[in-house]
Amino acid sequence: MSYLAKNYNRKKISFTRGKGSYLYTANRTKYLDFVQGIAVNSLGHANPKLVKAIREQSKKLWHVSNAFQIPEGEKLAKKICQKTFADYVIFQNSGAEATEAAIKVARRYFYSIGKPNKNRILCIKNSFHGRTIAAIYASGSKKMTEGFGPKIPGFDHINFCDTKPRFPNIRNKIKKNTAAIMVETILGEGGIKQIPDKCLKYLRKICNQKKILLILDEVQCGIGRSGNFFAFEQSKISPDIVPIAKGIGGGFPIGAVLMNKKVASGMTPGTHGSTFGGNPLAMAIGNSVIDTVSSKKFLNNVKKLSKYFFLKLNRLKEKYPNIIKEIRGRGFLVGIKLYSDQTKFIEKLMDNKLLTIRAAENVVRVLPPLNVKKKELDLALKIINKVCTELN
Ligand SMILES: *Cc1c(COP(=O)(O)O)cnc(C)c1O
Repeated sequence: MSYLAKNYNRKKISFTRGKGSYLYTANRTKYLDFVQGIAVNSLGHANPKLVKAIREQSKKLWHVSNAFQIPEGEKLAKKICQKTFADYVIFQNSGAEATEAAIKVARRYFYSIGKPNKNRILCIKNSFHGRTIAAIYASGSKKMTEGFGPKIPGFDHINFCDTKPRFPNIRNKIKKNTAAIMVETILGEGGIKQIPDKCLKYLRKICNQKKILLILDEVQCGIGRSGNFFAFEQSKISPDIVPIAKGIGGGFPIGAVLMNKKVASGMTPGTHGSTFGGNPLAMAIGNSVIDTVSSKKFLNNVKKLSKYFFLKLNRLKEKYPNIIKEIRGRGFLVGIKLYSDQTKFIEKLMDNKLLTIRAAENVVRVLPPLNVKKKELDLALKIINKVCTELN
């Protein structure tokens, strides 16, 4: 009997301990964890540096109100801004809060320049921006919005596009009162689908032409996951607003919205806030995570090892052309797209002590920690190969 509501379809397994890439059950069964809390534990479980950071800060100060200066937050915001396009940061606690804050920043900017009707957000149909009331309508997915009406107005949708440089119909979808385009640079829940560089460049161009804002949701693909600090860096464009979360806390709940100077001008005192967002404990951990994941050496290693992983996964695709349809993604945001439903495949991987998680479109999502070892990748490949053999 569980007193937890039934809103999750949980596997019948629990863990008592984690170390690096591995999770352990109470009876010490060891699992290679390539879920990592869905791209959250960017440095694996119980990372010594993070343990030290949380331990030291926990003895000093956990939480103070944002009514006061928080030096740990100043420090983390400065690091983020010095490494990225951003000029300002607002800290939150989760991804959905960060995407909502992104929407608020965009709308408030147009309000502040005397265009309050410019408030519509154009998103990709069946994308994912979180589970709050506004975020589910931003995603435009029937599965997520069903039963949660009335519909929140203010969102329009285009279809995902990965073949043409332009999103079909996008010009018609940008209306007089469109404020921003908001997309995930790499769609995570939607099936690990990358928006190609040329399409991202096109989005930036059209936003400039129409004088609207570009919001890139990097909650899942950001913070080193793609092999760059941000996935959009590869296409050499600069967004206006970027919500982040997942990987930045290394397992501690942290979200943030990053913005450039222009749009930040609308966020005057009292316009937004969060009780927990940016507290000293969270910020101490965030500082520790970013010091590691933003280093060139670390990111180059992610690029190098993930390239190896993709190469080997593509070999498996060639070996099992009836099972694996496509290997998707970048860095350690990996999708194995199957020809049929992925449920059984994921179960069999788990039987063989490899944890993965589903995404849309028959995709098995593989999310190693960013500091995964080559021998752990090899073990995962061995297990994937074994399961393919069994299902062939
Ligand atoms: C996970 C995710 C969110 C929501 O994050 P939560 O912390 O679950 O609220 C938003 N956007 C993207 C792209 C995500 O992957």
